[in-house]
Amino acid sequence: MEQLIKEAIRNVPDFPKPGIQFKDITPLFLEPRLVNQMLEHYANVYKDLGATAIVGIESRGFLVGPALAAKMDVPFVLVRKKGKLPAKTISHTYSLEYGTDTIEMHEGAIKEGDRVIIHDDLLATGGTAAATAALVQNCGATVAQFSFIVNLSYLKGEERLNKVALCHSIVTY
Ligand code: AMP
Repeated sequence: MEQLIKEAIRNVPDFPKPGIQFKDITPLFLEPRLVNQMLEHYANVYKDLGATAIVGIESRGFLVGPALAAKMDVPFVLVRKKGKLPAKTISHTYSLEYGTDTIEMHEGAIKEGDRVIIHDDLLATGGTAAATAALVQNCGATVAQFSFIVNLSYLKGEERLNKVALCHSIVTY
């Protein structure tokens, strides 16, 4: 399964800017059997975590997150960039290389005592996932696991996130 997923990921050089090798996961979703195998794999790996919610990070964390949450019979919660969620939100601002960014979650979506799996398509520096973890922890919840399809391990995001929780990725570069 890992090898099939690796083969389904398309490398797009110089996107969105020169020097970036973009890992495009969209071809994976053209293969429903592979998607089902991937969901089965995640559900099996995460079955003993006692997870009570899955948080997906905008926007490619929304491709797998809701299906996995339904399969694991837990709620799915969206984390989005500032200004996208319609109802009352809680937010967290974090530093980028230049400037800051803010992410938001609907108030009350994560509850005190929740055990949360944070899912995104790809782990690079870990900045986005670490900010999401801070948002989750601000709700009085615990991060049970970080979940990705791809880990760009040479960017050392996993070392950063492991201070909070373990990371699981299917494909590592
Ligand atoms: P980071 O916060 O540095 O771990 O960046 C992770 C976020 O940026 C994820 O939401 C990814 O979708 C996106 N991302 C970063 N680098 C890449 C890449 N080389 N290919 C595809 N997506 C990327």
